[in-house]
Amino acid sequence: MRIDLHTHSSVSDGTESPAELLGTARAAGLDVVALTDHDTTAGWAEAEAARPSGLTVVPGMELSCRWFPGDQPPISVHLLAYLFDPLHPGFAAERARLRDERLERGERIVAALAAAGYPVAWERIVERSDGGVVGRPHIARALVEAGAADSVDHAFATLLHHRSPYYVTKADTDVREGITLVRAAGGVPVFAHGLATKRGRIVGDDAITAMVEAGLLGLEVDHPDHTPDERAHLRHLAADLGLIVTGSSDYHGSNKETPLGACTTDPDQFEAILAAGTGSAPFQD
Ligand code: AMP
Ligand code: FE
Ligand code: FE
Ligand code: ZN
Repeated sequence: MRIDLHTHSSVSDGTESPAELLGTARAAGLDVVALTDHDTTAGWAEAEAARPSGLTVVPGMELSCRWFPGDQPPISVHLLAYLFDPLHPGFAAERARLRDERLERGERIVAALAAAGYPVAWERIVERSDGGVVGRPHIARALVEAGAADSVDHAFATLLHHRSPYYVTKADTDVREGITLVRAAGGVPVFAHGLATKRGRIVGDDAITAMVEAGLLGLEVDHPDHTPDERAHLRHLAADLGLIVTGSSDYHGSNKETPLGACTTDPDQFEAILAAGTGSAPFQD
C-alpha cells in the first residue's frame, strides 16, 4: 500500500486539476491519496467524480494557521485536516475568511512589487487562478512569466520569501482555534511539516504540546522539507504524545520539483486516521 496524504491541485496552488492529479497518482502507483488544497474544499466534488477505480481518495485540506509565541511575532503553521464535514458552519466561515485574507494580502504583495518596478498585475493573477485560492506561488508564476525570475523556486528565493521587503503577512487562524474547528467538524487534525526550518521560523515543543491539548491527533513526520534530524525529533515526540505519524509529498504539480509519493504513510497510521474521522468518508470502490 502506497499512501500519500498531502497534495495540492489547481484549486489552490498546485498546477494540475483534481482530476489530472488523481490520474498522476494512479500512474505513480499510489493506492491512497489525500487532496489537501489550502483553505478550500472546492476540489472535493471533482475528485469524487473523477476518481479512477482502485484509488482511494481522502477528502482533506491544509488550513493556514498561526501560533502566538507570546513576546515574539506569530509563527505560520499549517494544519492538515482529513475527513471533516465541509458544511460545518463555523469551520466553513473561517475558511471563507482565510480566502478573503489571501486576496487582500496577495494584492498588497503585488502592489509592493509593482511599485518597485516588477511588471506584475494583480488582475491577471486573479484571472489566471480561475476562481481558486490565491497564494504566493501564483505571484511567483507571474514573476517568471514577466521574466523577473527563472523559476517558481527562484522567485521565492529572491522576492517572495518571508523576510523579503515585499512580503506581507496574513491574519491566519489561531492554530488552537483551527484544531478545535477541525475536531468540531468531525475531522482529523495533523500538524503539517512542523519542523521545516527551511520554510521559516518554527515552533517549539511547548507549542506542539499545547496543540495536543487542543485536540491535535497527528504529526506529519516524513516530509520533503524535513531533515533526518527533524524527522527523528518529530517521530520521538509523536511516540511520547501518542500521536498518529504521517508521511507525504506535499505535491504541487510543476510548481515544485517533488513527485507524488516522495514520502508516504504507513497503512496502520492511515487506519488510525480513518477510525478518527467522522465528518466525511473517503471516496473509494
Ligand atoms: P502562501 O500560502 O501564499 O503564504 O504561500 C505558501 C505556499 O508557497 C506554500 O504552500 C508552498 O506551496 C509555496 N512555497 C513556500 N515556500 C516556497 C519555496 N521556497 N519555493 C517554492 N514554493 C514555496
Ligand atoms: Fe502550497
Ligand atoms: Fe504547507
Ligand atoms: Zn501543502
